[in-house]
Amino acid sequence: MSGAPNCLFCRIVEGTIPSETIYSNDVVIAFRDIAPQAPTHVLVVPRAHIEHAGAVTADDAATVAAMLLAAQDVAVLEGIDGPDRGFRLVMNVGPDAQNSVAHLHLHVLGGRSLTWPPG
Ligand code: AMP
Repeated sequence: MSGAPNCLFCRIVEGTIPSETIYSNDVVIAFRDIAPQAPTHVLVVPRAHIEHAGAVTADDAATVAAMLLAAQDVAVLEGIDGPDRGFRLVMNVGPDAQNSVAHLHLHVLGGRSLTWPPG
């Protein structure tokens, strides 16, 4: 076992829990959310265990940049980028934001018109 003990996304990164992975590189993987909230709902997850966006430090700058670049690639793969389309990137932090998995992840949501403000 690598990564943090008792961490669901560390288990998905190492492959012991299955996921529908659509994108992968040395720094991140991206897989479909098990409970999609939009036609495209993909989670971009760093291979390294970081608790959440509130715990990111300057040492994680390259990892966070890689997450954004991966999200751009996911949007292209899913056909939700472009001038007439669009997508939403979300990082939940803490109980008030309904953060349920304590491993940094970027939600990529799109494929329909998204309302604002979120619930
Ligand atoms: P958050 O609430 O921001 O922490 O997001 C966690 C997300 O992980 C939720 O949208 C869940 O639906 C999703 N999730 C939980 N378990 C799995 C899993 N095994 N595979 C894919 N997505 C999952």
